[in-house]
Amino acid sequence: MSYRITGNTGEWEIVVGLEVHAQVVSKAKLFSGASAEYGGEPNTHVSTIDAGFPGMLPVLNQECVAQAVRTGLGLNAQINLFSRFDRKNYFYADLPTGYQISQFAHPIVGTGKVIVDLADGSTREIGVTRLHLEQDAGKSIHDQDPTRSFIDLNRAGVCLMEIVSEPDIRSPEEAGAYVRKLRQILRYLGTCDGNMEEGSMRADVNVSVRKPGEDGFRTRCEIKNVNSIRYVMQCIEVEAQRQVQIWEEGGEVDQETRLFDHVRSETRSLRSKEDAHDYRYFPDPDLLPLIIEQSWVDELKAALPELPEDKRDRLEREYGVTRYESGVLVAEQAIADFYETVAKGADARLATNWMLGDFFAALNRTGRSIEDSPVSASSLRELLALISDSTINGKIAKEVLEDMVETGDSAAAIVERKGLRQVTDTGAIETAIREILANNADKVSEFKSGKDKLFGFFVGQTMKAMKGKGNPALVNEMLKKLLAE
Ligand code: ADP
Ligand code: MG
Repeated sequence: MSYRITGNTGEWEIVVGLEVHAQVVSKAKLFSGASAEYGGEPNTHVSTIDAGFPGMLPVLNQECVAQAVRTGLGLNAQINLFSRFDRKNYFYADLPTGYQISQFAHPIVGTGKVIVDLADGSTREIGVTRLHLEQDAGKSIHDQDPTRSFIDLNRAGVCLMEIVSEPDIRSPEEAGAYVRKLRQILRYLGTCDGNMEEGSMRADVNVSVRKPGEDGFRTRCEIKNVNSIRYVMQCIEVEAQRQVQIWEEGGEVDQETRLFDHVRSETRSLRSKEDAHDYRYFPDPDLLPLIIEQSWVDELKAALPELPEDKRDRLEREYGVTRYESGVLVAEQAIADFYETVAKGADARLATNWMLGDFFAALNRTGRSIEDSPVSASSLRELLALISDSTINGKIAKEVLEDMVETGDSAAAIVERKGLRQVTDTGAIETAIREILANNADKVSEFKSGKDKLFGFFVGQTMKAMKGKGNPALVNEMLKKLLAE
């Protein structure tokens, strides 16, 4: 089902392209040796290059280039062996040089694609137009003093990758799924931490609308610096509604840069959109063109970690998990690693069910993430081993897991402490059953005259009498035998 907005004149389709700015994981900045670490006392991670001192020369950080190449490879994209740095000229108080060094005409990465997963289980391919390297600007701080603004240059010169998508996105859901997938891939690659609250990933959201079936695109507006997936989705909805109304009233949408106010749920004009020629781009005379070797690209490729799509396929193959389950398990690398520690050499079906069921529930309950799980992967595996070798049954295992979460004790220790070992002694089971049958003679005769459903009642009574510790298979088998007598 395609996503549509209904206006007075009928249905409208939305068209969205995203420019995602992702902060590169690196020790130093793109062209200086200053620390690229987030935070820090204001203006402590600043070199003379970042501060735009006259005569300072930028020196390209090779690790930043490697990160861009890795990311390009992870997006199945063309890696350009020739690329170039340009100056994008504009004045802003937090940009001391008066220009940003970026890649305009020759980006390091060309076209690629991202496959996004939608809620109904379908997938869509979103084209990537390009990825280029650029410097981040500093930060203006307006809320610390009533009359003055401050500048913090710690972020100035930090390396960003700008990842531009084709206008292939057709719904807020697809936009959300695209950013989520992109973030997942970058995190797996270790090229960006994807932390949107700290601003290490933010999106410029380009939105236009058109009538379904219409050729070409109408004028777009660009909503700047949207810093959460939820806001990306919301601003598209709000902005598309605004544009539909303008077109329907006989107006024209102006190409503008806007900002999203999530409190008032509206977008507001920031400035009319500048065109590329307004920036007077030209090749940065302080930097040579960037030429990389195919053999280096091949080396980086060979060293890439397993990416989410491949991991998904492998988990399905090796552990027999379903498509849905593999999606949940690879959402974060730490979850997939945890799962594999639990499932390796164990009953994989049991491991999957427990991981996605009781274990995740326990995590949720305690508000912990997988990284600080109260139960380690090997402890969970020990618990499951106790089920597999019939030491305890599944129901008791749930109780043991709760105890593990609370006390941090091992499964085996809890089973011993609480005397939860499963009763597999057929003599003990028979004694319990005979007593139940004797006390429920009326139900026994009802059962015998055809009321099969009562079997569950007898199982329940027996388990209760045995404090839940009866081996379920044996209890069933024994009950059948004794009821047939
Ligand atoms: P600029 O730097 O001027 O914003 P870019 O070419 O870098 O231009 O980025 C344009 C972005 O806008 C891309 O993500 C592209 O997919 C998207 N886009 C282009 N035209 C439209 C349109 N008519 N409707 C929606 N998105 C569009
Ligand atoms: Mg833009």
